[in-house]
Amino acid sequence: MKLKSIEISGFKSFADKTEIKFQNGITGIVGPNGSGKSNITEAIRWVMGEQSAKSLRGGKMPDVIFSGTETRKPLARASVTAIFDNTDHFLKSEFSEVMISRKLYRNGESQYQINRNDCRLRDILNLFIDTGLGKESFSIISQGRVESIFSSKPEDRRAIIEEVAGVLEYKQNKIKAENE
Ligand code: ATP
Ligand code: MG
Repeated sequence: MKLKSIEISGFKSFADKTEIKFQNGITGIVGPNGSGKSNITEAIRWVMGEQSAKSLRGGKMPDVIFSGTETRKPLARASVTAIFDNTDHFLKSEFSEVMISRKLYRNGESQYQINRNDCRLRDILNLFIDTGLGKESFSIISQGRVESIFSSKPEDRRAIIEEVAGVLEYKQNKIKAENE
């Protein structure tokens, strides 16, 4: 499985439709402060189903819609599309290429699609379930998060390592079973 490309339009600082293609190997995104590097990673988290506006540095979800500049009017809609190569069927889909998209309007109305068919948020989340890529995973680590990992208490840091290693789930089940 591999993220092949994303298309961002009206999301945060990306007012114009912007396509980013990821080649094989490691991709580095460089640019001055405030140029939108973090917004790209947030667009990826958002299209994968992120539901916390706060974790996207906003107060409410419509804050992700381009809010305008001195020379440009705000937009009415944010849209992000991501295309994954799924020839190894790592994502829970029979398709060898999976396109997911999410749109949000100022009135709060949203639309989710998988391979251009309307679907529910849950269907998007299900694609990534148990892949280690979904919500709360450590596949995308934001700036502030690095600091919080390093400055966390040893117990909390241990929980992070256990979650990455995939043992936290078993530990939680054990505690649950002991309490029953
Ligand atoms: P740094 O190097 O400091 O981490 P960065 O390249 O990661 O910077 P971002 O945080 O991705 O930059 O982008 C911040 C910019 O995005 C700011 O200029 C901010 O005004 C703009 N921005 C955020 N949300 C919106 C929005 N809804 N509409 C328009 N612009 C937005
Ligand atoms: Mg940044």
